[in-house]
Amino acid sequence: MKFPSLNTQILLGAFLGVVFGFGLLSMGKDSATTQTSLYVANLVGTLFIDLLKMVLIPLVFTSIAVGVANLQAHKQIHRVWIYTLGFFVFSMTIAIVLALVANQIFHAGQGLHLDMFQNAMSHFEAQQQSPADFFTHFLHGLFMNPFAALAQGDVLAVLIFALFLGVALVIGGERYKNILTLLQEFLEIVMQMVRWIMTLAPFGIMALLIKLVVTQDVSLLATLGKFVAVVIGTTLVHGVIVLPLILYLVTGMTPLRFWRGAREALLTAFATSSSSATLPITLRCAEHNLHVRKEIAQFVIPLGATVNMDGTALYEAAAALFVANLVGIELNFTQQLIVLFTAMFAAIGAPGIPSAGMVTMVMVLQSVGLPAEAIAILLPIDRVLDTLRTTANVEGDMIGSLVVQKLVKESAKHV
Ligand code: ASP
Repeated sequence: MKFPSLNTQILLGAFLGVVFGFGLLSMGKDSATTQTSLYVANLVGTLFIDLLKMVLIPLVFTSIAVGVANLQAHKQIHRVWIYTLGFFVFSMTIAIVLALVANQIFHAGQGLHLDMFQNAMSHFEAQQQSPADFFTHFLHGLFMNPFAALAQGDVLAVLIFALFLGVALVIGGERYKNILTLLQEFLEIVMQMVRWIMTLAPFGIMALLIKLVVTQDVSLLATLGKFVAVVIGTTLVHGVIVLPLILYLVTGMTPLRFWRGAREALLTAFATSSSSATLPITLRCAEHNLHVRKEIAQFVIPLGATVNMDGTALYEAAAALFVANLVGIELNFTQQLIVLFTAMFAAIGAPGIPSAGMVTMVMVLQSVGLPAEAIAILLPIDRVLDTLRTTANVEGDMIGSLVVQKLVKESAKHV
């Protein structure tokens, strides 16, 4: 019998995770079997995420430095920058507009009784964070002592230093050839480690999904059912229709072909709820399965994992509108525009870790005068919603790399 491919194993792992999760749930959350299984699932799932995080920082550092150096050497860097940032802003704008339109249709939260949440609201102290504070904080976080950033695992600061290094390496030319070669070889070694870690992905994903299913607060999910359904529905429209359509129109790649190449990363994103932890796998999928040129993937994917978050942008807007409906405030057009901009900024500023979007959401709420304490209502259900929005975030990064590759190729023809 032929051993199933890793891709199939991962799919099977995800399927079994959900099935076992519901199986354990039917035995009762407090039964000894469920508790023991939960302990094992937690252990295996956390180990898998730890392994991914272990390679994350060396990977971001080397891939951005090497990617930028190679692009610069091919004189393509300006175009790649413009197309990449252009695509990020474009796709996040569509995601947010989808959330605004869905709100016009469904008005999730309207008429829902606030009394039941008063307790949660009164026990939660939101940090004051105006857009101006947020912006200052964000800018300060960009430039750091690289050694501190590496040691603290600060992805954004590592990325910025690596960008500088990549440009400097090329400007230095022949003189720094050895350092570039060293970084290139180091990157290859890290990617080798990623290959090893990926063989554990079926178990890691299964364990994480078991834990997710068993630990959900179903009654709260049902109370906020309409909001949950609107967020899931809109995210699916974006991820299953809008993004694949853009991909098809620009590159001609069919959604099925994309799914086949991308599913390892998409399932990992779903199970880990972290674009950063998924990054090693996303990069591998883009290069090996979707055949994005190395230097483009090495630049677009790590940048996208921290900056380009369609699912998060959509959620930030949807949640702000939900809170507005809940407290009975009708946002006018200008306020909705403010939501659009702050939601995008909040998504850009959110690090690729679980529930990061909830932290930056304070800014979105406060920008239009909504009570930031309302986050307390959303926090308990965030683990579930985070799965899908992280998947959309990671999908956007891979589609971004394919679109940028195509656009760069096209524009090179016309020069
Ligand atoms: N978990 C998301 C990610 O890693 C960020 C968020 O929206 O919370 O992409």
